[in-house]
Amino acid sequence: MNNALTIAGLVTRSARHRPEHLAVVASGQRLTHHDFNLRVNRLANGMLAAGVRRGERIATLLPNCLELLDIYWAAAKIGAVAVPLSPMLLAPGLASLLDDSGAVMLFTTGSLLDLARQAAALAPRLSGCRLVLVGEDADPAASYAALLTHGDAEPVLPSPVAPSDLYNIMYTSGTTGQPKGIMLSQQVRAMYALLCSSVFRIGPESVVLATGSLVFNGAFVTMMGAFFAGATYVVHGQFDAEALIDTVRRERVTHIMLVPSQIIAVLASPRFAPEHLGSLQMILSLGAPLHSHHKDELQRLLPGRFHELYGLTEGFLTILDKTDATRKAGSVGCAPPFMDMRIVREDGSDAAAGEIGEIVGRGPMLMDGYFKRADLTAAALVDGWLHTGDVGYVDEEGFLYLVDRKKDMIDSGGVKVYPRDIEELLVEHPAVLEVAVFGVPHEKWGETPLAAVVLREPGSVDGAALKEWLNGRVGARFQRVQEVVVLEAFPRNAAGKVLKRALREPYWEGRDTKI
Ligand code: ATP
Repeated sequence: MNNALTIAGLVTRSARHRPEHLAVVASGQRLTHHDFNLRVNRLANGMLAAGVRRGERIATLLPNCLELLDIYWAAAKIGAVAVPLSPMLLAPGLASLLDDSGAVMLFTTGSLLDLARQAAALAPRLSGCRLVLVGEDADPAASYAALLTHGDAEPVLPSPVAPSDLYNIMYTSGTTGQPKGIMLSQQVRAMYALLCSSVFRIGPESVVLATGSLVFNGAFVTMMGAFFAGATYVVHGQFDAEALIDTVRRERVTHIMLVPSQIIAVLASPRFAPEHLGSLQMILSLGAPLHSHHKDELQRLLPGRFHELYGLTEGFLTILDKTDATRKAGSVGCAPPFMDMRIVREDGSDAAAGEIGEIVGRGPMLMDGYFKRADLTAAALVDGWLHTGDVGYVDEEGFLYLVDRKKDMIDSGGVKVYPRDIEELLVEHPAVLEVAVFGVPHEKWGETPLAAVVLREPGSVDGAALKEWLNGRVGARFQRVQEVVVLEAFPRNAAGKVLKRALREPYWEGRDTKI
């Protein structure tokens, strides 16, 4: 057993102490801690037999499935580095991430095989990367099953996994520009495990549902918490509000984590009824702003469950506990134990309470840096403080209120316009389900706000009427939107977050700024 501050021993520990307790529900299977540990051991031994060594990168290109969990925990046991890659990537983006990571193994599945092959063809340096097919036995040499033939005993390593060993490289962007691989060590993941299980009160009897893609860093919050506590972890396929409601009822789920658009979809689902979600003790929102209108609706329909987490893949900074959610409505919480968070002015000095500035954070939940990018690391981590690129303020009690992302801020003739202020108003319109405000070019002011919306009922109102309604309510002339565009759906990333960049892009085409 590994007793250092690592995640290497978590699955073994639960198997030893609670062997018969339900550990995992995924891909139609239900496994006890004992059985799950044997699966993980089998794969870990297979990886070792295939020559995978400590510190080597294991990439995954998989949808949510049981094997993805096997791979994450087998890598943890042998000190290999898990590199989750999104199935939503296109071949050139995937090729550059595979190339950058120097992966020695790529796990994929039949439906994604063409994509993996196209990427491999574009990245000649990948010749040393072994392709392993999950759920496919056409080519036995490349099949996942072939790796599982080396016994299910605990893997034997030349030396134990150490807290400083790299555990994950999480890529934030791969479609354009230089890949940015965020390095997270075993110790950082162990801190996730410890903090998330304690602050979200995940215990052995908890049932934690993974709702979004397990490729997204946010998924590691509840995954680490669940395995730390020896709880039951239920994995869903692609997000689907109706299926989620059914699973919560069937499995008596106690903890879920969702990005705001998923919360909105659950509340708007015809299948939604508060009593169907009565087993939930925690609904954690993270990754993007949940506008007050939706927070209030959630608090009204399912009172006392709402937690919020604010952070980046580079590190988590604040947590709003459900007991503070009403008293501190609108805040994303305060720094958890071991973490520091403060607001700085442009000259680096500390902002006063209530004064808006950049949010910076420090502590053991931060990344170790960007993989092979010392330049980017030096710019993001200054004297140990992570510069988030987000703007906000703290109150007298140290609770953080997010204002917006620096890069989303609109500069309208020298005036700073925060899209979120406008979004908060527009989402109050009864016909509007979701809203995104962003800057578009303007001849006189440089840029000006434009709003995109998704309606609750298609066709119930038009953009011109919404524009008139909104512009009659904004607090300042510069907050008036040029147009309200009605869309069927927003573009989203693998985590389900709205891609404002993709919305903004067509308006800025041919210009070299603001994309
Ligand atoms: P990329 O770097 O690829 O553009 P990204 O910036 O969305 O992706 P993430 O690390 O997934 O990368 O997201 C971090 C950002 O998400 C934060 O900087 C913040 O703007 C936003 N965010 C995170 N949590 C919250 C929250 N609770 N409320 C509002 N915004 C949030």
